[in-house]
Amino acid sequence: MPGYEFFGAEERKEVTDVLETGILMRYGFDGPRKGIWKAKELETAITEVFGCKYAQLVSSGTAALTTALSALGVGYGDEVIVPAFTFVASFEAVLSVGAIPVLVDVDDTLTLSPAAVRQAVTSKTKCIMPVHMCGSMADLDALVAICKEHDLVLIEDACQSIGGTYKGKMLGTIGDAGTFSFDFVKTITCAEGGVVMTNREDVYTSSDGYSDHGHDHKGVDRGADLHPFIGYNFRISELHAAVGLAQIRKLDTFLSTQKKNHAALKAILSTIPEITYRRIPDEAGDSCTFLSWFLPTAEITKQVVAELKAQGIIAGSFYWFDNNWHYISKWDHLKNSVTLNKLHPDLKAAVIHHAGKDFTASDAVMSRCISTLINLCWTEEQIKTKGEQMTAVIHKVLQQHAVTY
Ligand SMILES: *Cc1c(COP(=O)(O)O)cnc(C)c1O
Repeated sequence: MPGYEFFGAEERKEVTDVLETGILMRYGFDGPRKGIWKAKELETAITEVFGCKYAQLVSSGTAALTTALSALGVGYGDEVIVPAFTFVASFEAVLSVGAIPVLVDVDDTLTLSPAAVRQAVTSKTKCIMPVHMCGSMADLDALVAICKEHDLVLIEDACQSIGGTYKGKMLGTIGDAGTFSFDFVKTITCAEGGVVMTNREDVYTSSDGYSDHGHDHKGVDRGADLHPFIGYNFRISELHAAVGLAQIRKLDTFLSTQKKNHAALKAILSTIPEITYRRIPDEAGDSCTFLSWFLPTAEITKQVVAELKAQGIIAGSFYWFDNNWHYISKWDHLKNSVTLNKLHPDLKAAVIHHAGKDFTASDAVMSRCISTLINLCWTEEQIKTKGEQMTAVIHKVLQQHAVTY
């Protein structure tokens, strides 16, 4: 997944362009910047590469989610459906606009279960926010249908699935808004950065203003801009955008390398019939940032993880079930609604209620799942060695369990 693996002269050149003018800010200073507009250039490239009408760069993927929620008018009293397996940014962004994060089970796609979403919809629901986790997509047809039926907005968190597609469309361009993160470990990196993509002019205009203190950006003089609403500062810098510009030109290489390495590792693991894989609603659209695989039971999975650790070959393989950042089981701060700023008592109670629900259905999936990060710089030899080491561990544990499962 990480674009930082292919970082080099191209990125340095783009950053140098900015350093030479000394204009590190994306807005204003039209004369001294001598025609260098890296953020604007990257936004145009994003609309072309991903096929959306508008792109608004911001300072992070989390900021992109917050901006998208604000631009879509999500706030006080609104419920936003998010998956129980995601990155903490999902509920952070929802809370930041004063809305209620409603955590809902995932299924064997590792993304929102449409059946569970249907059950979670109430008269307060305003938005469904699927997260295309680990390179692959949620069942978007089913989620779009629920949104239509109940008049809800759809925000796709595609932060981990840059370049993935669903039925021919790029992930992140299908909902009312979609987001990417360009943090240091994502498919394309700006060091820190993110983007809101949309085909709706109103959502774009609001995102553009919101991420820069509500500026309407209509005049040439920044000081004379009007502020039709209260915004915030989620601006990206020209230095960060410059890195992203070099990276987006390498996206095809990133994706084809990911796909090749993913296929090679999968071929080795597939020699073990007990291993199964996540269900992918559109197999051809997998961006292949991770290979996510299941073992027959939670017990076996835990032992495989322990054995991978013991042999020093766990690096790059993630057991999300026990991971502090990605799964409900370890989010004690959310379950207890521990915030620095006081929340309205009703919101606090709702957060505690929704995070404390029963997630047995997700547990059944996540406790058997291991995701292995696909690196770009692997050699064929390294993939073979990695695959063989992994299969040796899995065989060993499966043999110990041969009678019991
Ligand atoms: C990385 C990530 C984010 C947040 O992105 P940042 O740029 O790190 O703020 C949001 N959602 C998901 C699924 C992510 O993986």
